[in-house]
Amino acid sequence: MKKQLCIVLAAAGILCGCQQKKTCTEQAFQYNVDKFYDLEILRYDVPEFDSLSLQQKSLLYCLSEAALWGRDILFDQNGRYNLRIRRACEELYLNYPYDKGSSEFDAFERYLKRVWFSNGIHHHYSEDKFLPEFDKEWFILACDAAGVEYDDDILPVMFDPTVMPKRTTAQDGVDLVACSAGNYYGEGVTQAEAEAWYAAHKDNSPEPLWIGLNSQLVKNEKGEIEERVYKVGGLYGEALEHVVHWLKEALQYAENDQQREVIEKMIAFNETGDLKTFNEYCIAWVKDLDSRVDFVNGFTETYSDPLGITGTWESMVNFKDLAATKRTQLISDNAQWFEDHSTTDPKYKKEEVKGVTAKVITAAILAGDCYPATPIGINLPNANWIRKEYGSKSVTIDNLMHAYNEAAKGNGFNEEFMIDDEIRAIYEKYGAMCGDLHTDLHECVGHGSGKLMPGVTKDALKEHASTIEEARADLFGLYYLADPKLVELGLLPNAEAYKAGYYQQMMNGLMTQLVRIEPGKDIEEAHMRNRQLIANWCYAHANGEMEIIERDGKHYLQINDYEGVRRLYGELLAEIQRITSEGDYAAAKEMVETYAVKVNQDLHKEILARYQKLNLAPYKGFVNPVYRVERNAEGMITDVKLDFSEGYIEQHLRYSRDYSALPSVN
Ligand code: ZN
Repeated sequence: MKKQLCIVLAAAGILCGCQQKKTCTEQAFQYNVDKFYDLEILRYDVPEFDSLSLQQKSLLYCLSEAALWGRDILFDQNGRYNLRIRRACEELYLNYPYDKGSSEFDAFERYLKRVWFSNGIHHHYSEDKFLPEFDKEWFILACDAAGVEYDDDILPVMFDPTVMPKRTTAQDGVDLVACSAGNYYGEGVTQAEAEAWYAAHKDNSPEPLWIGLNSQLVKNEKGEIEERVYKVGGLYGEALEHVVHWLKEALQYAENDQQREVIEKMIAFNETGDLKTFNEYCIAWVKDLDSRVDFVNGFTETYSDPLGITGTWESMVNFKDLAATKRTQLISDNAQWFEDHSTTDPKYKKEEVKGVTAKVITAAILAGDCYPATPIGINLPNANWIRKEYGSKSVTIDNLMHAYNEAAKGNGFNEEFMIDDEIRAIYEKYGAMCGDLHTDLHECVGHGSGKLMPGVTKDALKEHASTIEEARADLFGLYYLADPKLVELGLLPNAEAYKAGYYQQMMNGLMTQLVRIEPGKDIEEAHMRNRQLIANWCYAHANGEMEIIERDGKHYLQINDYEGVRRLYGELLAEIQRITSEGDYAAAKEMVETYAVKVNQDLHKEILARYQKLNLAPYKGFVNPVYRVERNAEGMITDVKLDFSEGYIEQHLRYSRDYSALPSVN
């Protein structure tokens, strides 16, 4: 599973934990790289890289090479014409004989940049095909002049809006396989045929194989369904050979036996395509908790297969963020203190509470379906029986959030929506820190706090359970954000910093999160409901602590008494805990329906209009750093250095030149 970035939070710059990172104050690092259409390209830093040993750096380098070799696989999985289109466009880009300053060439360049971003010709998020803003005749003549040869079949695929309009469709009543452009099924395979094949081959044993995870279903000459397995010697074998080569190189630098087993199993899986080996790999991976360096490399998430079976190729290489992990450890170590001192009724408190240490990682390379657009967290493996029996690893990727945050600075969001310079100044100083700490409190102690009364079950609150649960964890975090204990523990620098978090929560819950809601719609999603519930309830129960004031037709939140807001959070926390502990469904329903769902239509319109004027690119992606190795005469790595100077176009052209092993037709 992937945790996706909340676009608005990123735009507002409130998702980061940057206080421990030196680079924060160094202006030299360039986070913003490029912007086109609705996309913005950022660069991420890799803090603490220098704290890794040479062995760990070498391991990371080999794993990053293994990651980059999978790029073509994703292009082909996203559509069977994608590699042909990408290659024709890249060749034209490099050999165009005329003026590269023309408007046609400019439109062509933006198209190619979009193809790279989406790993194909469909928008990475909406999955709709995007059309070139240059015409077919221009393309044909330009290719002619540049000596670019291409398959004529790509022309309708590129230019005709009715051909392959959607990458993965979820539309009711249509053949999901036939109507999806994704290449998980060969030409002519229908949904019914694919489903029948999966049903016939499904593994119902207690430790089932994920049949179909690593294969394409095609029709053979006799019209029967056949499986083409992704493996060395099979489908995508030419790319997987390189992946395997670099995984083998990585073996010599493994940090311990457990990690060596992980790498060995992944090699064996790529070589054989054997799903039992994949299960063994997953189990070994879950057990590897001690290594500093970690990685995902292979056919992982199944969102892009319209039937949700086959894995999309991705890779992310990362290492543990020790500073952030120390922070969550500190919170977790004090879990009992937090439990004992909260505003909830003592009878709902846990006598013995255990905190959770959140794992925070630093991404070192992004590839496949994690690149250029990326999740901000990963929770794997996906097989439920492995999760149940062996657990799972859930991580938050701090340096990417940090990059979102830094890149958002100066985008005008805070200037538009925050009431005055005073709060903006506090927010600029402490906003990221508070956002981070609030997340830590929410995850490490919030969810784990409190207990249910005898006889009350977890599902007592039914459809409102997740909203109430998220509100409970959020309120726990908010209440403690203002506690002197955090300053005492060294988690916040002073008694004023928390105001940034309070203002942000109230502003977001009352107003700015509405930019994610379409005009006229109510709030559906549990996290959003929770945020509005908290803000609306506090606002409704406020007695001078805060107000919304109007200035030149625009509304702003003003907080007059932050201590008072804390009292309100505390009061609501006590009530939400009571509802949870007692399983009081009627009260939960009343609470959610009164405060969480309905949107103030006039305010919504105003917020949307103000947001639109800021002209922010809603989707972000990244360029990777370049890892440069030095080797001795025996070929052993003697140093690995980071280079952040590569641009977006250069990076993609280099990847296509140096990491492209697949034929155009697979
Ligand atoms: Zn939560």
